[in-house]
Amino acid sequence: MRLLPTITILCFGITGIFSLNFKSKTYPINITGHLKESRKETPHIGLNFVTVFVKGNNKLLAKTEANAKGDFHITFTPTTEKSFDFFCTGIGIDTILVASLKTFDSDVMEMTFNLPIKYKKNTLGKVICPKCNRSDKVYKIEYGDAPVTTMHINKSGDTSYSPIYKGIYQASCVVEMAKYYCYRDKIKF
Ligand SMILES: [Zn+2]
Repeated sequence: MRLLPTITILCFGITGIFSLNFKSKTYPINITGHLKESRKETPHIGLNFVTVFVKGNNKLLAKTEANAKGDFHITFTPTTEKSFDFFCTGIGIDTILVASLKTFDSDVMEMTFNLPIKYKKNTLGKVICPKCNRSDKVYKIEYGDAPVTTMHINKSGDTSYSPIYKGIYQASCVVEMAKYYCYRDKIKF
């Protein structure tokens, strides 16, 4: 009976070595994906031929097109990326983040992506960004006839324009799927 803890530690040790080995190698990740329109309040857009792409460290890793049912296959080989961001784009969808993953449980996976992503809120009831998991730079998107653009001039006199006005992201009159925007990550979701 006294052997049991030792065996447990040994097992953990072996698992540790294996997972280390696994991490140092690069295997292609194969994902069979399904897109699902998740929200009733968003206009029904239809998921015909939506383009799906994955970015890691802001570099495009793979790109594919879903079929008329919203099913797709995508494959890419992770290297040193900190996270893997899945985006969708298509008619009426703009470019939205549908998932941000740090690791993969397996190299062959089946995943369902909600369009838009299911919004998570923090304890204060504020929507959090699916990439940085913070709410402080998240703005609600409003679709209006005349989007207001705010001009910012920094100390060195450089001018930049921001679609954020009075705490709301001003979008064009074309109503799209995204409801929120993270200014930190420059993503809509
Ligand atoms: Zn963010």
